[in-house]
Amino acid sequence: MKTVSILIPVYNETDVLKLLYDRLKYLMDNSTSYKWEILFVNDGSKDDSLLIIRNLRNVDQRVNFVDLSRNYGKEIAMLAGFDYVIGDCVVIMDADLQDPPELIPQMLQYWEEGYDDVYAKRRKRDGESFLKKMTSKLYYRILQKTTKIELQVDTGDFRLLDRKCISALKQIRESQRYTKGIFSWIGFKKKELLFDRDIRAAGKTKWNYWSLIGLAIEGVTSFTISPLRISSILGLIVSVFSFIYMCYVFGKALLYGDPVQGYPSLIVIILFLGGVQLLSLGILGEYVGRIFYETKRRPPYFVREYNGEYQMKKNN
Ligand code: UDP
Ligand code: MG
Repeated sequence: MKTVSILIPVYNETDVLKLLYDRLKYLMDNSTSYKWEILFVNDGSKDDSLLIIRNLRNVDQRVNFVDLSRNYGKEIAMLAGFDYVIGDCVVIMDADLQDPPELIPQMLQYWEEGYDDVYAKRRKRDGESFLKKMTSKLYYRILQKTTKIELQVDTGDFRLLDRKCISALKQIRESQRYTKGIFSWIGFKKKELLFDRDIRAAGKTKWNYWSLIGLAIEGVTSFTISPLRISSILGLIVSVFSFIYMCYVFGKALLYGDPVQGYPSLIVIILFLGGVQLLSLGILGEYVGRIFYETKRRPPYFVREYNGEYQMKKNN
């Protein structure tokens, strides 16, 4: 019998865990043609989440959990999940029930048909502001334009992955992770599934606008170097125009002389070039920062315990 793992990163989710487990239990008890695992990755929760998970584990041996040494963020928590998950396939889900577990049987069906990566695409986005929808749409459009790898728009981390994909994902051990991009990058046979994303069942979101901007920059810089290219091209264009303008100024000065004038144009040019230079430096800095993090070659995370016991992680 094949084992299906459900991977759930958890950070301060006391309010929903019981609800989530009940929904999953119903699903598992009704699909007896598979063996099931629920793997909770406790991402350094500061509330009673771990306690609740422990209790679930005590009553249901299908529940496993990894407790990380601190809060690393969802991206790293998912990597830890890939390392510890035991199933022949894994379904990644949010703890807050925004991803309906009822979709899993259909994902499994596609999986049986031979697809490696069945991802759930949002039909509409409930409970999100107009601004968030707009910016996210624009963002993905731009990101897609700058890369040859096909991105999945309106797709989160809710998806089913075959063992093949998990093995691939485990080998990608960047500490600055943009998992959404990595899913696309690894390739494999993908299948889309449409669904309506629910609003959070309880508790509140861990994202604010700042962290979303951070993730957006992460997405671009870990995926493509086109911002560097754009700043080079911009530099080239500005240089060409400067050269033409220089010839013009020189010529004018030689022909007609030059009573000192032109303060406005001077200050505008200086400010413009200063801005372009700062922007380019900033872009460069983003990439250098990324190099800085990766060259340290630290393990992406540490585990406090697995199912109540401390364990040395066997790498890969
Ligand atoms: N999460 C996590 N570590 C974090 C932040 C979030 O493991 O540092 C988990 C969280 O418990 C949830 C999932 O990531 O299961 C998605 O978080 P959230 O619902 O806050 O994000 P949103 O749905 O608003 O994008
Ligand atoms: Mg959520």
